[in-house]
Amino acid sequence: AKDRGKGRFAIYDDTLERTHEADQQLGADLRQALADERFTLAYQPIVLLPGGEWIGLETLVRWPDARIGPDTFIPIAERTGLIVPLGSWILRTALAQLAAWNTEFGAVAPHHLGVNVSARQLREPGFAEEVGDALVEFGVRPNQLVVEVTETAVFDGGVALDTLVALKALGVRVALDDFGTGHSSLGLLRTVPADSLKVDKSFVAGIGGASEEAVIASAMIQITEGLHLRAVAEGVETAAQADTLYELGYRFAQGYHFSRPLPPAEVRSHLLQRQLA
Ligand code: C2E
Ligand code: CA
Ligand code: CA
Ligand code: CA
Repeated sequence: AKDRGKGRFAIYDDTLERTHEADQQLGADLRQALADERFTLAYQPIVLLPGGEWIGLETLVRWPDARIGPDTFIPIAERTGLIVPLGSWILRTALAQLAAWNTEFGAVAPHHLGVNVSARQLREPGFAEEVGDALVEFGVRPNQLVVEVTETAVFDGGVALDTLVALKALGVRVALDDFGTGHSSLGLLRTVPADSLKVDKSFVAGIGGASEEAVIASAMIQITEGLHLRAVAEGVETAAQADTLYELGYRFAQGYHFSRPLPPAEVRSHLLQRQLA
């Protein structure tokens, strides 16, 4: 495993058709990268509309080679089970980071931090306890942590749903991610103890004019208001989209228009500026 050929990464390229061997190689390299602590975390701001003030951050894991995104390696980590130890590392690193921001910035620190949790992690017995222990260890208030789960991770109930109920009992918040793209979106709202919905970027992308997406995005904000949930619009790339979302009633947004996912040092310089302002 030491002779890492220079051209090796070519086989991972997201644009190439993936082969079984490439997946196996990536699986082995993921394991090694976790052991060597070569993953990093980026943090993307969640902002208030219309002004764009930061209210929270979402944690997004990064592989050392930026050409390979989590859409490529997370599914492999899920299939191989590596997502369980990788997910623990992500959770602990993110909470340690949040604790450091809390200490340095107090009231200016992010109000909440989202961490993506995959179905496999939710089905792991003891996951809620692990989260509770980590919150105590790092001294983070439970309601500062938002666990982001997809509809498909929880739609069949079972252990995954029990885990969410246990997390809620700890005071942790739950966000339903990529909302609207699964097969049970509305029905889930009756059973899943969610605090917020992250409206998928596919709806935001098509929101201009009298599109179907605009009608759906409008219906979704009305449902969340009626159920006292928060709605976060994902993938906001233009000022026009942000304006339309605000007119529809959205108050929380995330996307390249406001900020790309940032390394911790850039988050810190933003917080320093806010503190001095
Ligand atoms: P997600 O949870 O829906 O995360 C949002 C994705 O949208 C991120 O992609 C983010 O960089 C991207 N994004 C943000 N703003 C915009 C925008 O304005 N336009 C567009 N087109 N995209 C935008 P990323 O970081 O590549 O992550 C992809 C997916 O990989 C995530 O989707 C999530 O499902 C998974 N993932 C990422 N980090 C983690 C993690 O730490 N744990 C787990 N289990 N999954 C993760
Ligand atoms: Ca997410
Ligand atoms: Ca999402
Ligand atoms: Ca996604």
